[in-house]
Amino acid sequence: MASILIVDDSRTSRRMLADILVRNGHTVVGEAVDGQEGFEQYDRLKPDVVTMDITMPVLDGIGSLALIRKLDPNARVVMLTAAGQKEKMMEAVKLGAQEFVTKPLSENAVLDAIARVTQDV
Ligand SMILES: [Mg+2]
Repeated sequence: MASILIVDDSRTSRRMLADILVRNGHTVVGEAVDGQEGFEQYDRLKPDVVTMDITMPVLDGIGSLALIRKLDPNARVVMLTAAGQKEKMMEAVKLGAQEFVTKPLSENAVLDAIARVTQDV
């Protein structure tokens, strides 16, 4: 079971994700509404895993991923992507994102991604 930071500007997405995670035994240690806040919370909370939306105001998920991985090269980040974000996905791979889950979110896809990135925890 993992401690997880949710970074997403959509309240609905955050709620859906938190519900899936908590129902399956994970702990949501924080929720951030943009990439900058996500980075600050990562630094403070040091969660096992971050779920990172891509399109967000202030700082997007790619920028936030870059800051987080610079701070902690071992950070485990699962990117939540939407259709048509292939280029962003490739950028995220280069920056060290380990897993991708496509929106709309499926419970199994979310749980599988969390399980894969935390195999060695
Ligand atoms: Mg968004």
